[in-house]
Amino acid sequence: GVAGLPPRVTRPAEERLMVAVRIRPIKHNEGQRVLHMVDNKMVVLEDAEGDKNDVLRQKRGSERRYVYDVAFGEQSTQEEVYRGTTSRLVQDVLLGYNATVFAYGATGSGKTHTMVGSPQQPGIMVRALNDLFQHVREARDPDEYQVTMSYLEIYNENIRDLLNPSSGFLELREDPRGRSIQVAGLSELSTQSTEEVMVLLQKGNRARTVEPTAANRTSSRSHALLSVTVRHATPLAGGERMRTRVRQGRLFMIDLAGSERASQTKNRGKRLQEGAHINRSLLALGNCINALSGGARYVNYRDSKLTRLLKDALSGNCRTVMVAHVSPGARHREESRNTLLYGDRAK
Ligand code: ADP
Ligand code: MG
Repeated sequence: GVAGLPPRVTRPAEERLMVAVRIRPIKHNEGQRVLHMVDNKMVVLEDAEGDKNDVLRQKRGSERRYVYDVAFGEQSTQEEVYRGTTSRLVQDVLLGYNATVFAYGATGSGKTHTMVGSPQQPGIMVRALNDLFQHVREARDPDEYQVTMSYLEIYNENIRDLLNPSSGFLELREDPRGRSIQVAGLSELSTQSTEEVMVLLQKGNRARTVEPTAANRTSSRSHALLSVTVRHATPLAGGERMRTRVRQGRLFMIDLAGSERASQTKNRGKRLQEGAHINRSLLALGNCINALSGGARYVNYRDSKLTRLLKDALSGNCRTVMVAHVSPGARHREESRNTLLYGDRAK
C-alpha cells in the first residue's frame, strides 16, 4: 500500500456496527418509570401490567430485555456518551476512513440533546469537531490539514442547506460510474473554533423544518446531517516533481427525524405523507444497516436520499454507531418499545 496508510484489513461486522441506547431523565408528567438499566449493556422495559421485580427475575420476560453494545442511563453525561460512542470514530477519520454516528428515536427522546446539546452541555457534534481541531493544532504540521463542514437537512425527500437555508432545494449528483455522490451547491465551511461551530449548529437547527403535531410537541420531521471532512496532504520526498499523498476521511453525524409512526400523530393529508417519507428513509436505513451487520454481499442504498448520501460512509470498512434514544416514562412506553426493537434489529 501507500506509505504510512493503515493496512486495509477487513473489519468483522461486529466491529463495524455499534448500537448504543441512551435513556433520558424522566419528566414530571410522564407517568411511572417503566424503563430501567440492568447493567451497562442491558435495559428492561416493564409490561403494561408489569411488576418490576417480576421482570428483573426474568422468569419468562426475555422479550422485555434489550441488549446493546453499551447502555447509557438517565445520569449519563455528554462526555460519557461521546467517549463511549464517537471518539474512536474521530480517530478513524484522522486515519482516512469514513464513519457515521446516528441519533435515532421518537421526538422528545433526546436526540438533539445528544448530538448538538447546549453551550453548557455540548453534544457529540461539537465534541467531535473539538477533538479534530485539537488534533490538527497539535499535529507536526497543522498546515497540512484542512477541516471543512457542511450541514444539511432531508425533509420530505428534499435536501436543504442548513448553513444557507435560502438556497432552496439541492440536487444529489452521482458521477457517471455511480462511485461518488455529491450535493450540488452545498456550502462547505472551513472553521476552527468550537464557539463558532456551536453558533453555526444552533443557527442551522433553527432553520430545520419543525411542525407541531397532534401529539402537542414540536415534532421534527427532518433528518439533519453534519458532515466533517478531514483532508491531510503530505509532501512526499524524492522524484523530480513535487508529489503529495492525500488522505481524506469523513465523519457524518446525523440527528434523525422522529421515529414515531404517522398513525400515532393523528394527522391527515400532508403530514401523513411526510410521515410516509420519513418512515421510508428510516426503513431504508434500517434495511441497509441490517444487511451490513449480517455481512450481506449486496446492500441496496437506492431507496432513499439518506441512504444514497451515506453509501460511502456505511459500506466497506467504515464504522457506524447508532445511538437509540428512549424516554423512561409509562407515557412513552409504546414508542420506547419500538425504538428498542429497531436498535435490537439493527444489531
Ligand atoms: P429530540 O431531539 O429527540 O426531539 P430533544 O433532544 O429535543 O429530543 O430533547 C427533548 C427535551 O428533553 C429537551 O428539552 C432536552 O433538553 C431534554 N433532554 C433530552 N435528553 C436529555 C438529557 N440526557 N439530559 C437532560 N435533558 C435532556
Ligand atoms: Mg430534535
